[in-house]
Amino acid sequence: MPIIYVLANQKGGVGKTTTAVNMGACLAYGGQRVLIIDIDPQANATSSLGIDKRAARLSTYDLLVRDVPLVQVVQSTARPRLDLIPSSPALAGATVELVSLPQREYRLRQAMQGPSLNERYDYVLIDCPPSLGLLTVNGLTAAADGVIIPVQCEYLALEGLSQLSRAIELVRQALNPDLRLRGLVMTMYDSRTTLSRQVIEEVRRHFPGRVFETIIPRSVRLSEAPSYGEPIISYAPRSAGAVAYAELTRELLLSDERLRQSA
Ligand code: ADP
Ligand code: MG
Repeated sequence: MPIIYVLANQKGGVGKTTTAVNMGACLAYGGQRVLIIDIDPQANATSSLGIDKRAARLSTYDLLVRDVPLVQVVQSTARPRLDLIPSSPALAGATVELVSLPQREYRLRQAMQGPSLNERYDYVLIDCPPSLGLLTVNGLTAAADGVIIPVQCEYLALEGLSQLSRAIELVRQALNPDLRLRGLVMTMYDSRTTLSRQVIEEVRRHFPGRVFETIIPRSVRLSEAPSYGEPIISYAPRSAGAVAYAELTRELLLSDERLRQSA
């Protein structure tokens, strides 16, 4: 069975997509078989992996709304062992269409059931849109192994996190009793500012033991890589951003190993 994480935060621009794409690429580089599922109509993860969202034949839209089987929607990327279910602009209308469908909160989870996913992948990373709408709820109900929350090292970082925690709690109570907070990733850290450090301390105080040790620095290279359709480990493998995402991935793998042994 693959380990399934969802990257969620209703704030936009906090590093969800960057973390999904680059952690996914690092996991695949390290030998894991990885599937990234893009459930954001903006399709940033899709284009960050060099796939044209308009050229994609089938997308998450077809998976969620049209019941097209997962195998038909999966695409391989330029990276070995890294597959993608692309998003498309059509997904923007899906929220409305989903409302009238049966099991609307479980569409993604249902689509992911079966041997085609279980036998092919070690990790599945779901990249959410910046909202707490039905698409994100689908991501949260499908996330068998937890939510990873990227948090930007910025003023008011904590604002919104309580709303997100409440949403996670609601989904846990009503839809997915196994849902847990896997961890918070501090992103876009600027070592020159004391604010960045203060934000990390504050988030650690509020979520003791839940914040990943690895901190992702602000790095121009990380923001450039998507326009070349490449993850940071191939675009700028020696950059600070690449080193940080490799380290974060190592930390995740080690603690997943520990969780598996204690289970
Ligand atoms: P989200 O998916 O949460 O909306 P993104 O991952 O798309 O956020 O990041 C928002 C923007 O910030 C993107 O342009 C991305 O390239 C850039 N970015 C993300 N992480 C970093 C970082 N560590 N350093 C510099 N730019 C970053
Ligand atoms: Mg995004």
